[in-house]
Amino acid sequence: MCGIVGYIGKRDAYPVVIKGLKRLEYRGYDSAGIALANGGLKVYKKKGKVAALEEAVIGEDVKGHTGIGHTRWATHGEPSDRNAHPHVSNGGSVAMIHNGIIENYAQIKNELIKKGYTFSSDTDTEVLLNFIEDIKKNNDCALEEAVRIALRRIVGAYCILLIDRDDPDTIIAARKGSPLVIGIGKNEHFLASDASPIVEYTKEVVYVNDYEIAIVRADELILKNLGNERQTPFITKLDMELASIEKCGFDHFMLKEIFEQPQTIFDCLRGRLDAENGTITMGGIQHYAEQIMNAGRIIMIACGTSWHAGLVAEYIFEELCRIPVEVEYASEFRYRNPVIHKGDVIIAISQSGETADTLVAIEKAKEQGAIILGVLNVVGSSIARVSHAGAYTHAGHEIGVASTKAFTAQLAVLTMIALKIAHTKKSIDDERYFALCRELIEIPDKVSLVLQQNEHVKALSEKYKDARDFLYLGRGYNFPIALEGALKLKEISYIHAEGYPAAEMKHGPIALVDEHLPVVFVATKDAYHQKIVSNMQEIKARKGKVISIITEGDTVSPTLSDDVIVVPAADEIVAPLLSVVPLQLLAYYIGVAKGYDVDKPRNLAKSVTVE
Ligand code: GLU
Repeated sequence: MCGIVGYIGKRDAYPVVIKGLKRLEYRGYDSAGIALANGGLKVYKKKGKVAALEEAVIGEDVKGHTGIGHTRWATHGEPSDRNAHPHVSNGGSVAMIHNGIIENYAQIKNELIKKGYTFSSDTDTEVLLNFIEDIKKNNDCALEEAVRIALRRIVGAYCILLIDRDDPDTIIAARKGSPLVIGIGKNEHFLASDASPIVEYTKEVVYVNDYEIAIVRADELILKNLGNERQTPFITKLDMELASIEKCGFDHFMLKEIFEQPQTIFDCLRGRLDAENGTITMGGIQHYAEQIMNAGRIIMIACGTSWHAGLVAEYIFEELCRIPVEVEYASEFRYRNPVIHKGDVIIAISQSGETADTLVAIEKAKEQGAIILGVLNVVGSSIARVSHAGAYTHAGHEIGVASTKAFTAQLAVLTMIALKIAHTKKSIDDERYFALCRELIEIPDKVSLVLQQNEHVKALSEKYKDARDFLYLGRGYNFPIALEGALKLKEISYIHAEGYPAAEMKHGPIALVDEHLPVVFVATKDAYHQKIVSNMQEIKARKGKVISIITEGDTVSPTLSDDVIVVPAADEIVAPLLSVVPLQLLAYYIGVAKGYDVDKPRNLAKSVTVE
């Protein structure tokens, strides 16, 4: 959350920073702001999206070769002009932007108020900034030194960028818990929360580590730890294309990403799954296969949509590998006192690899001897770096705030891991193993077939867009898909929706059913299909509107449904990869029909780097 961009070099900083902020807007859009060093400090900031900032600076002097910019997801203080970053220190010489939360800000703020400091915002950021300024003044030291001293007293998470009116040729940056990438150009440097603002200028980047400070000049990048020791910047090559972060003719990133799924799932399987010969090659996992096979249990740790992927994986791992699985919300797991045994295997699932709660949860489990595997989309992310091993999902950059292609890629990876372990452990027979490998390899083509229902789903969205509530029901492997469908709808259409196990519905939610309530059944064919058909009967008997996701050839469900969306036949283990797609489309089109900005739903942001 919160996007951070910085530029220093020969170009004008303003256009580079603004363009970068637009690419990072998925991380927050409560306000946007920019600070430029050009003989003095120029700071412009505005509540709302980056476009509002651009409008506000029309006619202003935005020259300068050094600049920092911020797009905010508010944690401390309402979204407003005055809480927008960058903040300027009391002395007026330093501007700073921040992604994260300073947990001990209140205590420091009191100390500073006693010294006569005043605050023009409610943010924790402004406190850290003035704390730095106070240290600089008292010690008569360089800004870099003051930052280092200040950060040793800070509790919390941060990525900060600072510019100093009196030293316009330097950007000071530091991180702990929130990401920072530095792009290395020819006599220029680009700083950002992720690589998307950088990729069009350079492919050489340095991922800054926790507790490192970067002193960045046009022609120089110095990295130090908080102990003031020089660190060698580790330069990596970006594996990202510009097209992957553009809309390419689609109205929204979310729609583009839904339509990319045949390709992203294919990319995820490619080079790993050889269905013909029945081999699954996953470097990181291979290394830990023995430990996973012998694990007393597997704990999936995740948040949001990734947590739903974990739930599907629970069913798959228990069925195929016969290993007990628990699925935990990272935020709950980390704050209780969980029992972890040496040899427990933790699978951390996160699109961004930066999810703050997941990161801390796995660090805690690691300390207690667990093996940590990451199922992550962003290469080189923080969770990747603390995991023992893992498998990337290769879904490409996901920009829509509502996760779609990252989810299906997570399912594909988790299914491959389960199959690999089950085959090695011999907990499934060869026939089933080969059959499932074939089922999985056919998924990209089948997702393409599901996407052919696009216009049909769009028409349904018109029909149901005015409903006040939705209920999503599923059983077995499709129960987590019901949860995911409800979450997607809530996120982007602001319609209240609940997901439930279909049979559990009669223990409460059925009281909600009347002729106005659409009930979405995720009812693809499985071993218990007859059971969910009975649940449909129960809803119909109470005049609810039934929308069913069904398998081709199902002739019974349509007779009980007001509307159906048909998906190709597939084994129940891989069916969630198909049944989720129409639910993504339904949520998307309802959000669009209601006139909302589906790529940037209110109050949300992607890559949740705050706890
Ligand atoms: N805590 C800062 C604020 O509220 C930054 C928020 C964030 O990174 O999400 O302004």
